[in-house]
Amino acid sequence: MGSRFDISVVAQTKVEGDNFIDIAVNEISRIEKLISSWDKNSQTSKINASAGIQAVKIDTELFQLIERALKLSELTDGAFDISYASMDRIWRFDGSMTEMPSVENIKKSVEKVGYHNIIIDEENETVFLKLKGMKIGFGAIGKGYAADKAKMLLQSKGVTAGIINASGDLNAWGKQPNGKEWNVAIVNPLNKNKVFSWFPIINSAVVTSGNYEKNVTFNGTMYSHIIDPRTGYPSTGIISVSIFTKTAELADALATSIFVMGVETGLDFINQLKGVECIIIDQKNKIHTSNKVDVNTTE
Ligand code: ADP
Ligand code: MG
Repeated sequence: MGSRFDISVVAQTKVEGDNFIDIAVNEISRIEKLISSWDKNSQTSKINASAGIQAVKIDTELFQLIERALKLSELTDGAFDISYASMDRIWRFDGSMTEMPSVENIKKSVEKVGYHNIIIDEENETVFLKLKGMKIGFGAIGKGYAADKAKMLLQSKGVTAGIINASGDLNAWGKQPNGKEWNVAIVNPLNKNKVFSWFPIINSAVVTSGNYEKNVTFNGTMYSHIIDPRTGYPSTGIISVSIFTKTAELADALATSIFVMGVETGLDFINQLKGVECIIIDQKNKIHTSNKVDVNTTE
């Protein structure tokens, strides 16, 4: 999936543990084949290649993932949108941009974007992208989904405890062999050796999204790598978001959405959701938390 997965399992023997890890790796590869937009033969690529032409029949699993993604678009008022993938890449966050794109070009860049134009047929399990050139991609939900699925499969094989960590999107279950809860550290993004706080993870997921290196500043405003699919403008104000909830899929999608929403709207939004908490670090390195999170920053 273009990212590193770390898999930990609790097992009786090394052989048993290795076997469980193989099972998880195979599951993650299987999901990658289904949702990858790089692989020309994936069902996702078939949907994209048929944009503006025809509906494509897909597996129930992918169909349901798309259905959930559309629900997330509705929930986030379009901040989360898998059709972001057809956005023109007019922004670069590697330091090579010298001036801001024109207002017209920014507007034009999101012409093909819009989840309302993803047409699903529940009965036939088909998906149709209405506009030619439209594309969907699972960059903001796929890693979380894969982590959830690998966890579920291992649990069904009787694995009592483990962690699936997809480059910072993690889902854990059970306890450590010493009987203690798994703990996750939230680190200061500007100094990875500094831990803001530790949190116990009890059969649930934590996803951190953020890229501190990837950004560009124009007229004193720092723009970072996640772009608002509704406007074509990059998000501002946030450098890192961590979401705590039951599944890594939901946490993954919400982390991206909060970037787009910004600190205030994002916090307000998370505080309205049951069973979801967040920690946001803004560009001044200030920590904002949802109502039920208590961060001890004294170290
Ligand atoms: P990371 O995995 O790098 O921490 P995220 O989980 O936030 O980052 O996902 C970022 C990826 O999500 C982008 O690289 C892109 O593929 C996709 N994406 C970007 N903006 C959106 C959006 N508004 N809605 C859905 N997906 C998005
Ligand atoms: Mg995400």
